[in-house]
Amino acid sequence: MVRTRFAPSPTGFLHVGGLRTALYAYLYAKKAGGKFILRIEDTDLERTVPGAVELIYRTLRETGLKYDEGPDVGGEYGPYIQTQRKQIYIDYAKKLIESGDAYYCFCTKERLEQIHKDGATKYDKHCLHIPREEAEKRIAAGEKYVIRQNIPAEGVSSYVDLVFGEIKVDYNDLEDNVLIKSDGYPTYNFANVIDDHLMGITHVIRGTEYLSSTPKYNLLYDALGFERPQYIHLQPIMRDAHQKLSKRHGDANYEDFIAKGFLKDAIVNYIALLGWSPKDNREKLTLEEMEQLFSLDGVSKSASIFDETKMRWLNSLYVKELSEEEFHKRALAFYAPYKYLNGLDLEYLSTLLHSRTEVFTDVGKLTAFIENFENFDTALFTNAKWKTDAALAAKMLPDLIKVAENEWDNLHDALNAYAERDGYKKGQVLWVFRIALTNAASTPGGASEMARLFGKDESLRRLNYALGKVIA
Ligand code: GLU
Repeated sequence: MVRTRFAPSPTGFLHVGGLRTALYAYLYAKKAGGKFILRIEDTDLERTVPGAVELIYRTLRETGLKYDEGPDVGGEYGPYIQTQRKQIYIDYAKKLIESGDAYYCFCTKERLEQIHKDGATKYDKHCLHIPREEAEKRIAAGEKYVIRQNIPAEGVSSYVDLVFGEIKVDYNDLEDNVLIKSDGYPTYNFANVIDDHLMGITHVIRGTEYLSSTPKYNLLYDALGFERPQYIHLQPIMRDAHQKLSKRHGDANYEDFIAKGFLKDAIVNYIALLGWSPKDNREKLTLEEMEQLFSLDGVSKSASIFDETKMRWLNSLYVKELSEEEFHKRALAFYAPYKYLNGLDLEYLSTLLHSRTEVFTDVGKLTAFIENFENFDTALFTNAKWKTDAALAAKMLPDLIKVAENEWDNLHDALNAYAERDGYKKGQVLWVFRIALTNAASTPGGASEMARLFGKDESLRRLNYALGKVIA
């Protein structure tokens, strides 16, 4: 049975690249009728951030990437948190020492710095030849040590990556890296092998940063007599042609996108397309559809560029599908910072904004004109198509104010009737009326819709204010 895993280190927010790895591992397992496992790789104690594990649980739950086994859901192969598996790694490291595939190393930081200063590009196997009895005595005497992998000095290692094909690496290019650190915890380089084996992982899906270190891991699989898993490495997601999307650059993570007003289904959908496309090149896909369609043929060998404009477009398709109630419920949280919206009929505002919203933070931009009224610009009355200008507005507005006062409940028809009676085009009347109400060339609704949004008193105040400006 196919078993995949997502193995994040709890170092902060779940960024776009991490979420994509989780998504592909999930999809690969689901498509094959297999299991998806969550494992927390927290053995680098200094990088662990409080709360990050809970954030991972929450994000996977919210996005629908349900894991079959994991720290908070249990499973036969636990514990699923690496710091709780410390002794397991130590026991396996000892086996590697027995077989000569690993060795104790006592080199100090100063010595390691010195050999690099002297031009070494990797560790020089200095401690490899310390007899084991001597090493054990030094350890018993309290000396600090690490356990290093003993990489053969010569030879080539190769394996087949399911996306990239055959990958060959010369052993000479690999270093005897640390397997067990001086604090007794394993490094990623060791723990990933032990856990992927013990947890029965059949397909390892992760970023291409591990493509060239995988031969080291394969040596460990072989030395321990473990069957090697299949590998699927994923190209990075780029910010632009040169730079990776990265946490350090403050590039967006899942929580930021939610705060910006993206919908989770759209985020997942867009992230899926960063490195994979279905055969029919469809772009809008639900998670269920992806579970059916996911296949490695569609996984890209080249990096993808994160395009927020495209993500906004995709999000707008999901926003359009929301019911009026659902849109309004979500929009309310995004209206809150804008004090100028107080007192308006927000439910009605939502009906006007729904079709114009790509992401929910757009409500700020789309309604900013409401606040910018007193600074009235009479030049906006000039419209070449309708042949209107401030002088015409000065002539019309006293009548338009009367229409609004007397026929408020029937405003749309009354404005049309006024146009017909006084020999204006409807468009002329509506333009003048709407500009006078809003001081904005483009608004999320027409003349009578804007009037309804403001209500009678505020509309009359605005019309009179605009009249004051054109006759001034
Ligand atoms: N803990 C590793 C990381 O966060 C996981 C790499 C892997 O999936 O093997 O990069």
